Amino acid sequence: MKHVLSHWLQTQQTNLLQWWSHLHDVTTGSVAILSHLDPQRFASALTAAANGDDQSLRALFSELIADQSDADLPTLVRHLNQLHRIARTALLHDNADPATIDSLAQLFEHALVTLADVWSEHTSQLIHEREFIAASLDAASAAADQRALQLKALNDISQRLSATLDHDALIEIVIDSLHRLTDAYHVALWLTDSDRRFRVVACRGSTEGPSVGHVLPATNPVIQAAFTGTSGTFWPTAPTDPDHQWLLAGCSVLVIPMTGGEGVIGAVTLQERYNPLDLRFMQDLAQSIASQAAIALQNADLYHTIRTLNAELEQRVIERTRELEEEKDRLATLHAIASEVNRSLDLDLILNNSLEMLAHIVQAEHASILLTEEESPSLLATRAILGRKVTPDNMVRFAIGQGIAGWAAQHGQTVLVNDVQQDDRWVTIPGSNRKREGSMIAVPLFVQGEVLGVMTLSHSRPNFFHEGHVRLLNACAGTIAIGINNAKLYRMIIDESNRRSELLERQQRETSQITAILQSLLDGVLVCDIHGSILSVNQAAGRILHRPIEELLLWNMHDLIQHCLGTHAADLPLEELFRRPLTTDGTPRTFTTTTTIGNATINFSLSPVLNENDRTLGALLVLRDITREVEADRMKNEFIGTMSHELRTPMTAIKGFTQLLAMGGLGQLNDTQREFVNTIYNNTERMINLINDVLEITKIESGSIDLEWRSLHLAEALSGVIAELQSQISQRQHQLTISIPPGLPLIRADAMRLHQILYHVLLNAVKYTPAGGKITIAVREILNVDFPEPVRSTLNTNHRYLLLSISDTGVGIRPEDLPRIFDRFFRAENPLKVEAGGTGLGLSIVKPLVKLLGGHIWAESTVGQGSTFYIALPVATERA
Ligand code: ADP
Repeated sequence: MKHVLSHWLQTQQTNLLQWWSHLHDVTTGSVAILSHLDPQRFASALTAAANGDDQSLRALFSELIADQSDADLPTLVRHLNQLHRIARTALLHDNADPATIDSLAQLFEHALVTLADVWSEHTSQLIHEREFIAASLDAASAAADQRALQLKALNDISQRLSATLDHDALIEIVIDSLHRLTDAYHVALWLTDSDRRFRVVACRGSTEGPSVGHVLPATNPVIQAAFTGTSGTFWPTAPTDPDHQWLLAGCSVLVIPMTGGEGVIGAVTLQERYNPLDLRFMQDLAQSIASQAAIALQNADLYHTIRTLNAELEQRVIERTRELEEEKDRLATLHAIASEVNRSLDLDLILNNSLEMLAHIVQAEHASILLTEEESPSLLATRAILGRKVTPDNMVRFAIGQGIAGWAAQHGQTVLVNDVQQDDRWVTIPGSNRKREGSMIAVPLFVQGEVLGVMTLSHSRPNFFHEGHVRLLNACAGTIAIGINNAKLYRMIIDESNRRSELLERQQRETSQITAILQSLLDGVLVCDIHGSILSVNQAAGRILHRPIEELLLWNMHDLIQHCLGTHAADLPLEELFRRPLTTDGTPRTFTTTTTIGNATINFSLSPVLNENDRTLGALLVLRDITREVEADRMKNEFIGTMSHELRTPMTAIKGFTQLLAMGGLGQLNDTQREFVNTIYNNTERMINLINDVLEITKIESGSIDLEWRSLHLAEALSGVIAELQSQISQRQHQLTISIPPGLPLIRADAMRLHQILYHVLLNAVKYTPAGGKITIAVREILNVDFPEPVRSTLNTNHRYLLLSISDTGVGIRPEDLPRIFDRFFRAENPLKVEAGGTGLGLSIVKPLVKLLGGHIWAESTVGQGSTFYIALPVATERA
């Protein structure tokens, strides 16, 4: 039958499915059966069940119950019944026999049983699961309770840790909490020290474990291992090698690292003997405590550091405040002293007031200032004493380098002596009543490296002064020294200005005297500055120059000389004088010349005005009216001329008659008569020569000599003179040497006057050289610089000169006579004076003649060795 049913189910499956698909759930109005059950699978499973295989049906129901959690058993039963009814209807419709219909009923019944069976299986599993969940929930809530307790404990610890910043108190809290909460056999808290080693700072539990102070190197493997993980290391049994002797035998160990913001700060170790796994459970809690402890300890350390810093800062603020106070005091004192010093230039006032202020501030009992003495700067002498006047009784004086004050002055250093009894530099000054006791400061007073003195302050108590006093005194010393210096300078300036005003007064007196003298002088005086501007003129100058003084003051000296002297202006070379105001022997040069202004003959004399250092300030021109002297001279010359003429006429007659007598023109003379007549003749001739010389001089002096200027060969002129004197030279057997180089320039001179000059000089050489002596004549050109002083100072530097020298090996001239040989009638004492004869007029004629020719004559001589006469004559210019 079953076969019939399964066959029917197979063949009618399509129709059956179609009928089933129209099945409506009467409860919900939807095709509910299709949402719970796949009709195709159900049909197949039903067919398999009809064949005795209910596996598919069972699997289908299991899935249905598992998936359709909202489908309850009655609904599913109702649906099955509906499907049964539809299938039965279909069978009936196909006219199936009742047995098949029963089979269908049995099949659906079996399906219902199977559904109920699957349902009950499913439900019992569900119940089992629910029970498991309930048990799990219980366990979870127990764990949560435990966790809550731990959190509460942690919260308590956290509160306690945050309640204090004391390092030691924190350590106590941490170790107590750890011990209490873990109840471990041994608990230890390790902190890293400055050498990065781990040191036990607190421990609880067994006394066998590491106690406070126990130290482990940072390299200890157990400790090290803790820092490789984040929550520590758990060692089920303690290692036994030597590195781990601190571990308790038979214990398990939990090492929790403590790390803060700045790295490793320490570790917590828990050791447990009986139930090592307890430690495992405690790990989180211990880790939390350790982390909080690390933060709290770091905060405490930070707080400690900040407090220390604060304390240091406060200390520094206090110190700085004290320093500023001292600085303020110092500045105030400095200011007071500076004001005092600036207010006065009275040395005593500055010293006494400064001393008083400083002594008051440093509370010195005794103070004094010693200054160097002006006359002997190596000595120090008391200049001011605190509260007393300096008197000879209390004044001391000692050398720089002596005593403590002397040492300070010598070394330029302030000395603080805490006990003068212990200081070897102390010197007891005789007569001083200063006791050797207590302390002392000696401050040197310096200005620009120069020691002015020393300031000493002392107190009878040893160690009374300190470095602050030294700083203050040093700061003030500079100001006081400047004050002293200023006062001294002021004193010096006052003294100097007094001296100068006295000098000025004297100078003014002298100037007014000089002015009075100048104005009362008969000679005209004009003074000009270095530029020639006339600065001063006297009345006489105005009178001589016929010009008002005011006008003369507007002139320039150069113009004035040019104006007055015309072509002779070169005789007063002002520029030359300014260029070279002194002769080589250091005497001022003077240029003179004479000219006529109106009817007057005026002598001009120009000389430099020099200061004490021979610096040229200007020039002085003195004008002397020599009209009267010139006139007197002229009258004298005229008189001499007349007299000479008057004398020469009878003399010439006497000479002529004597010659006639001597020649026997008036009868033969006996020897005596001839001798007398010869004497008369010789003397008459000498007198005529004398008269001729006098007449010559008169002519020269009266300026009545007319010169005939020519360009001449000096050698030619010489040869004429030598020829004239040849007989006398030969007679005296003189050796004559002449040295004249060829090609010498011509000279400009008057031939007759040149002959006269050369004749006189060569004649003297012959006369004053003993027989057989040497006479040397030489000519050469001479440079200006080769002229001897003072000749050079009178030279016109534009001219060239030939120099003639006539040297002899004669009697020579004594140095004292040499300056006088050109004077009229002067004849030096010498062995040949008498033999030579002469009038002493020759050289006095030669000199003015040489000058007239524009030349110069001078002589050099050594007594007994000979003389040289030099004659410089100007070279003829091309125009001449
Ligand atoms: P005098 O007619 O006496 O020679 P001078 O005027 O010529 O007069 O000379 C003056 C004096 O100078 C001489 O008396 C002599 O003492 C001295 N004198 C001149 N030339 C020489 C000389 N060459 N040697 C030595 N003494 C001389």
